[in-house]
Amino acid sequence: MNRTSKTEDDKLYLFEHGGTTGAVIRILPDSSRSLNEMLPEAFQQQPDHQLSLAYTCCYLNHRDRHVLIDSGIDGDEVASALSELGIAAADIELICITHVDRDHVAGLLLQIGDGELTYPHAKYAIDAELWGELHKPETYESLPKHLSRLFQRLQELIEDRVILCDGETEVAKGITFIPTPGHRPGHAAYEFATDDTPILHIGDAALQPQWIEHLDWPVVGDSDPEQARQSRKMILERAEETLALVIGTHLPWPGILA
Ligand SMILES: [Zn+2]
Repeated sequence: MNRTSKTEDDKLYLFEHGGTTGAVIRILPDSSRSLNEMLPEAFQQQPDHQLSLAYTCCYLNHRDRHVLIDSGIDGDEVASALSELGIAAADIELICITHVDRDHVAGLLLQIGDGELTYPHAKYAIDAELWGELHKPETYESLPKHLSRLFQRLQELIEDRVILCDGETEVAKGITFIPTPGHRPGHAAYEFATDDTPILHIGDAALQPQWIEHLDWPVVGDSDPEQARQSRKMILERAEETLALVIGTHLPWPGILA
């Protein structure tokens, strides 16, 4: 992989792998969390230490197709980062949604949680069951107001453009949706075939490298910690087998496994 980065706190991190070019886009400043805050009682470590979580989404030019993995929080900001790369928001053809937490999907709309589509010509890959859940009134009732408004608005705007994925699904040529539920229901990773080894975006399946070293560790805050642990193990074993270039939303900046 050739990496061309400017400085540590750049908003964009450009890379190339097997003929696919890409950019990790910072959507928020890093946040610092204590390791033990993210581990249940039985797994506490001595000494504790601070972890640095990045907040990112990712752009790929995959076989001449403009693809985004998640959309960040602020549609305008991500669109302006893309324009620095010479890509108009209207050029984005596919958005691979890993899950529907606010920091991953709010940027699909131009005003946070409302407004028009940031990427008016895109198709949207998402877990079929998760998309179904988002249509249920009880889902809306359980969500904070800004999120229920966001999902209702998204339904109005993209219903005819979602690519519903049920199990492992090829969402476009050489782009595979891989179910990795647990962090959230319907969480997915995406694998991109390249001329070299694949690029694998794992979303929030592993938040920090410590959970890649310790596959038995759960994460406080995962919706289903045991299922998340199984998904993490499965996707990381797959990465090891395929020698994939692994990208994760919250891995230390720039979010690419060394
Ligand atoms: Zn996240």
